[in-house]
Amino acid sequence: MNGADRLAEPLSRVLGARTAGGLAKLGLETVEDLLRHYPRRYGSPGERTDMSALAVGEHVTVMAEVRSTQVRSMRSRGGAMLEAIVTDGHDTLQLTFFAKRAGVLRMHESKLKPGSTGLFTGTVGDYRGRRQLTHPDYLIVGVDAADEAEAVLEASRPIPIYPAAAAVPTWRIGRSVRTVLDPLTEEDVPDPIPAAIRAERSLPTLLEALRAVHVPDAPSDWERGQDRLRFEEALVLQTALARRRAAREGLASTPRPPRDGGLVDALDASLPFTLTPAQETVGREIAASLAGATPMMRLLQGDVGAGKTVVALRAMLQVVDSGGQAALLAPTEVLAAQHLRSLEQLLGPLGHGGMLGGDARATRLTLLTGSQGSTVRRQALADAASGAAGIVVGTHALLSEGVQFADLGLVVVDEQHRFGVEQRDALRTRGDRPPHMLVMTATPIPRTVAMTVFGDLETSTLADRPPGRAETVTHIVPADNEAWLARTWQRVREEVDQGHRVYVVCPRIDADEPAVDGGAPPSDAADAGGDEPLVLEWEGDDAPSASVPLASVTETAAMLAARPEFAGIRIGRLHGRLPADAKEAAMAAFASGEAPVMVSTTVIEVGVDVPQATVMIVLDAERFGISQLHQLRGRVGRSTLAGLCLLVSRAEPGSVSRERLEALASTTDGFALAEKDLELRREGDVLGAAQSGGRHSLRLLRVVRDAALIEEARVVARDLVAADPLLETAPALASAISLWLGPEREDFLERG
Ligand code: ADP
Ligand code: MG
Repeated sequence: MNGADRLAEPLSRVLGARTAGGLAKLGLETVEDLLRHYPRRYGSPGERTDMSALAVGEHVTVMAEVRSTQVRSMRSRGGAMLEAIVTDGHDTLQLTFFAKRAGVLRMHESKLKPGSTGLFTGTVGDYRGRRQLTHPDYLIVGVDAADEAEAVLEASRPIPIYPAAAAVPTWRIGRSVRTVLDPLTEEDVPDPIPAAIRAERSLPTLLEALRAVHVPDAPSDWERGQDRLRFEEALVLQTALARRRAAREGLASTPRPPRDGGLVDALDASLPFTLTPAQETVGREIAASLAGATPMMRLLQGDVGAGKTVVALRAMLQVVDSGGQAALLAPTEVLAAQHLRSLEQLLGPLGHGGMLGGDARATRLTLLTGSQGSTVRRQALADAASGAAGIVVGTHALLSEGVQFADLGLVVVDEQHRFGVEQRDALRTRGDRPPHMLVMTATPIPRTVAMTVFGDLETSTLADRPPGRAETVTHIVPADNEAWLARTWQRVREEVDQGHRVYVVCPRIDADEPAVDGGAPPSDAADAGGDEPLVLEWEGDDAPSASVPLASVTETAAMLAARPEFAGIRIGRLHGRLPADAKEAAMAAFASGEAPVMVSTTVIEVGVDVPQATVMIVLDAERFGISQLHQLRGRVGRSTLAGLCLLVSRAEPGSVSRERLEALASTTDGFALAEKDLELRREGDVLGAAQSGGRHSLRLLRVVRDAALIEEARVVARDLVAADPLLETAPALASAISLWLGPEREDFLERG
């Protein structure tokens, strides 16, 4: 059996069905899965959990010293019990075991020797005012050692603490790791880091690193092991990106140079405002890329309201000026329809191509969505295919459905910071002359993330906003404070009376449905790492419990309609399950002021532009992530009217959820929020689809903390790919990339 096979072996074969079954609950199927399940932190032998912090009902793992153990028979109930007292040196916790006969308890008694140290797992109970664990699972350090020397060594070793599950405690994972790790040899563990690079940087081999993190003799061991594994992750990622970049540079696309006196010039002359300096600069960058012979792949970042649409329109017109077509893709049909309207507005007669009275240079705009009637759709498809439509607006489905274009020169993707590797590749594989591509996002991506995930993209940033915009003020409203809530609804009335519009966003559509559009709270303290106390190994979510149902669109709309403040006000509803025409109608009634209050899910999260909207109320705000809330807030304060954003929440002061909301209330700077977001939540969520697809994704690498390392890996990867584009000299690196990308993405790479 060769090395790779060894790592790919199913755990059921190596460890037996029962153990493997438990590990499968953690998503661990193969030997490599288990070896890549690194300890989350390490206990030091002298360390003790602070017992005073344990709360009844919590499932905990504590590290403590055994103070006393006593077996007693119970006359009243029959049988016997063992009581052990463990301590952190100050407070105590009682461990209780029951059995029919005292003999059974002797086994525990012999392990739970006073003075020994162990890890104890169970749910904290309360017995006559004393906290206790009943039948806890436990590990006494050193007890299972083969001899005394090993016991001494074990007792002084850092104790790996694994991300665990209630059914599979950390030490059982540790034992399984030892079972698969101990017999492995260097030949069994191919190293993705080529030997020369390893030597240059004095890094241990993969096997050495795995031993160092799983079975460290001293803290310096696991630190060294982790450093190496972290570099490996950076290298795999950056090599994948370098290969992708190299592949793209090898492609040809049709140059679309600017044309004097064309549509771009005509538009510039007719705009009711002057472009900001940032719009000018970015416009020039894009114009130059479009004129080039390799496909542009550019990310345009600009906070909500920064004015990305006109930048995109100018790019699209440049392509039309040179004889091609452009497609603008939005994430939803509502947004696609809105984009069409705002492009029509910006273009005026320049968009009336082929019509009587149109400008001679004019082009034609076409909307193409799945819910169109068949006649309209057939015409739209024909216009795209014949080239009559210079600009086609639609949803992402437009690409996957294989709509035909006469000469597609540019694809603009709006409001999609998670526009992943797959979508980028789906475009690249269209025909032999891939279109240029511009991805726009209002979720600012910190430079480090851009480099990590979008390392194959060029980026442009609209840093300033058009002048004359009012600021939006944000407040947190405690959900249980009736007076505040009443004031909130009163405020809605006042705004409506002034002719303004108000959004009320809920995490659910109706009562009997899980949070759909809103999604789960991103906080995941169970994997936050760092210096949290050694308790709560797997129950870390601090979001308020589900005992209070989440606000839904249906119930909230009904509740508001019944309140006196809303007398005479029409309340609209919008959510993803409505048919497209109902969504359109709801948006139109809101925009016109006919229904000035809109209760909705996050379908209005991105891009919707209603200048008279002044108030954004988000119910159960802790259910949403920072960037989502920032997007929602961006729906108000879009004109000279000041905006107000109210985050209604039950999040407890001091919780991570509350901290997110406070971050939002403290700044409107999208970049500062994006950094805070990275700090507060697992970066995996931020990186999104780009790293979650493959099984072996980023585990140790943290894009903010490890920015320097990522940059180093990037240089190494570039050299590597330049010298050996197919990675023939580094097969283990090549297969690590395949694992990381997953089979589908690898397939795209092959085709690219
Ligand atoms: P976003 O970047 O969020 O997509 P939009 O492109 O929707 O922003 O622009 C927001 C508003 O600002 C629109 O009404 C647009 O017409 C207006 N706008 C864009 N550029 C300028 C500018 N240079 N001066 C004044 N208003 C502008
Ligand atoms: Mg926009």
